Amino acid sequence: MTMLIAIYFSILGLVFGSFFNVVALRVPVGKSVINPPSSCGNCGTRLRAMDLIPVASYLVSRGKCRYCGDSLSLLYPAGEAITGFLYLWVVLRFGITPEGGIGLLLVSMTVIVSLSDLKYMRIPNKVLLFFTPLLLLGVGFFPSSPWWHHVLGALLGGGIILIFALRGGMGMGDVKLFALCGLVLGVPELILAFLIACLLGTVVGGGMMLVGRVSRKQPIPFGPWLMIATLIAYGYGSQIIKAYLSLIF
Ligand SMILES: [Zn+2]
Repeated sequence: MTMLIAIYFSILGLVFGSFFNVVALRVPVGKSVINPPSSCGNCGTRLRAMDLIPVASYLVSRGKCRYCGDSLSLLYPAGEAITGFLYLWVVLRFGITPEGGIGLLLVSMTVIVSLSDLKYMRIPNKVLLFFTPLLLLGVGFFPSSPWWHHVLGALLGGGIILIFALRGGMGMGDVKLFALCGLVLGVPELILAFLIACLLGTVVGGGMMLVGRVSRKQPIPFGPWLMIATLIAYGYGSQIIKAYLSLIF
């Protein structure tokens, strides 16, 4: 892996992250991602190229609109920086390979779904419908295990979350999302991802309740936890499972 490729993918991630912000902000409320061009949410001034440089524009303007001085949401530069970091992680972990390609799709979906779920408590069908055929093609041509592992992963992933959704607390968006994750991961990685998601949700959600950031009854977006757990299982699942089994046997 040359340094240049790593830098290239980090920058690509920053730029795509900027676009993912727009998608996550507009698609759940039925707006076009192309029109109108980006403008300040407060004063409506149309943003110029120099206002749209990922992360850098936010830092230079110290998180404020250059035209009206209104504070900008930290979600924007955070989404850009996290996408850049995740693109870098994928090329470092998988290199320029089919697995890396599927990894880039997964991290892209992670960012859009997480931003949308955090902002609107929604995982838009349109976003899932965009990624489903691409991931299906990726897994179809380059399966990581026998095909029925992937089918079983999809059924289990959707099925487990459906049980939670029927009891309330999770939405149908989560069901569809985790079915898609299960399709990519296959079994047994899907089961590992579910356990990691439970652990993350319990630790972080419980922690936020303890410090009083959220109340017990307030719904918590699960999409980000499901996706982070899926990425961990996709990147390191077989190693984690092997290490765990070697502890027992
Ligand atoms: Zn403004």
